[in-house]
Amino acid sequence: MITRGSVGLAGWAEESRDFTLNFLREMTPGTGGTTAETSEPEKEEANRGGIFCRRCGWRITEESSRITINGLHHHTFFNPAGLLFELGCFRYAPGCLVHGEASGDFSWFAGYLWRVALCGQCSAHLGWRFENQHATFFSLIIPHLKEDS
Ligand SMILES: [Zn+2]
Repeated sequence: MITRGSVGLAGWAEESRDFTLNFLREMTPGTGGTTAETSEPEKEEANRGGIFCRRCGWRITEESSRITINGLHHHTFFNPAGLLFELGCFRYAPGCLVHGEASGDFSWFAGYLWRVALCGQCSAHLGWRFENQHATFFSLIIPHLKEDS
């Protein structure tokens, strides 16, 4: 659920702090979410290399979607509130819901507009989708994701 008006680059410092606190609380043993997967072979194959929402386990994207932007996959940025983000770039993130109007304010990638990207299941803020007339990609907050192990 979106309960606040804005979770933009400038506006969600408080949200992020809440997320981190909630996340730490949820790290207690026995509360990890498990997702039921079908046993269909193709599905198992597709789940290899999956990248999931750390909070709820929803499948967000996969290893093969990793891309480089400006020569790097992994980027670190400060938002205007001074929070540091470790981001990984992905061509697709079908598990994300993209929220809000596209904005060019404080865009970390020159020439791109951004929209907030949320977990499609629990609405955790996972990053942003960047877009221009030629391309779109997702830049996702690495500590908010977990990989297959
Ligand atoms: Zn989630």
